Amino acid sequence: MNPQFAIDNVLSFALTERRAAKRYRSRRVLESPQASQVVVDGKPYTAFCSNDYLGLANHPDVIAAFQHAANSFGVGSGASHLVAGHSSEHHALEEELAVFTGRERALLFSTGYMANMGAITALVGQGDAIFEDRLNHASLLDAGLLSGARFQRFLHNDLTNLQNRLDKTHAERTLIVVDGVFSMDGDCAPLPELAALAQKNNAWLMVDDAHGFGCLGKTGGGSAEHFGLSQEDVPILMGTLGKAFGTFGAFIAGSENLIETLIQFSRSYIYTTAMPPAVAAATRVSLRLLQEEHWRRQHLQELIARFRVGAQQLGLQLLDSFSPIQPIIIGDEARVLMIAEQLAERGILIIAIRPPTVAPGSSRLRVTFSAEHTLAQVDQLLNALSDILGGTQFGDSGHE
Ligand SMILES: *Cc1c(COP(=O)(O)O)cnc(C)c1O
Repeated sequence: MNPQFAIDNVLSFALTERRAAKRYRSRRVLESPQASQVVVDGKPYTAFCSNDYLGLANHPDVIAAFQHAANSFGVGSGASHLVAGHSSEHHALEEELAVFTGRERALLFSTGYMANMGAITALVGQGDAIFEDRLNHASLLDAGLLSGARFQRFLHNDLTNLQNRLDKTHAERTLIVVDGVFSMDGDCAPLPELAALAQKNNAWLMVDDAHGFGCLGKTGGGSAEHFGLSQEDVPILMGTLGKAFGTFGAFIAGSENLIETLIQFSRSYIYTTAMPPAVAAATRVSLRLLQEEHWRRQHLQELIARFRVGAQQLGLQLLDSFSPIQPIIIGDEARVLMIAEQLAERGILIIAIRPPTVAPGSSRLRVTFSAEHTLAQVDQLLNALSDILGGTQFGDSGHE
């Protein structure tokens, strides 16, 4: 082979380019459970970067359910759901998720990425049209491209832009897909208006509520509960279990016909091993905690309110978010990296999010809160930011 075409030479050239563009990403090694205090590469940090919004990932009852189920069901499920891997724990969790979401049925997937991929490609294809908010999660965008349907992205939360595009469409099936809570901005989709617009245009609405479930709604029922939207309004409702549920996996909830369609046609459902039954068993406990322990959502709201007031006093640029995702917009890629580094030196872990994950010029610190955090930890964060950016000190309020 001409060395110019050898795999390591080709790849190392592309990696060098990535490094030169300051977009090289690397992983940190977590040496503790996911919690508000973590140990990374041997050092302790107060962390504001997990999606464990309700603090259930490390909850003793969830751990006990996992251990107990591992004792009775073993570790691996050993097969796909359709072959012989669908256990009674999976089945019970699906039934409980259907009740929780107020839908006829729910179907478990091994990950959220696979749920989106499997649902979208099973529902639309050639001759159909799919419209996605341009800030949708990568898994939804990838699925739209892979589906073979005519794929269009509309401006973020812009219903006029969406309607203009729908006006020019003549497709057999039309699917509109949005995040319930946008993962990098933390804002909500205008779901009641989107549901009405979908009905008017004979389109189906799919909502990915990965960041809404557990955090929004009276009983943690997410965006649909928050806005009071039924199965008819949002016929395809997706949730993940690796965020507020604190475990792993995902589900789609909807009508009997929707779920049967996914079982028959969803390739990422059919051709993969079922999640370990113990994960399903643990999730059944976290679902109960998520519904019953309202204090977790209330405490989250207190943390968010405290942070927003403090950050605004510091003159930081926040987004229109009441979710646990509270990004601080910095803009410049190099500057956001520098601030994240200075926070780390002060024992605070926050991830800098840069292009291509977000638009150029909108690099940010993606601050996320968990019910595990204390108000004192929020003050610690605000004081560190104040130190780095120049400003007043917070705390001494007597709380915690
Ligand atoms: C995390 C996330 C997913 C993917 O879920 P996984 O279970 O992590 O694969 C999908 N959609 C959104 C909006 C997410 O934030």
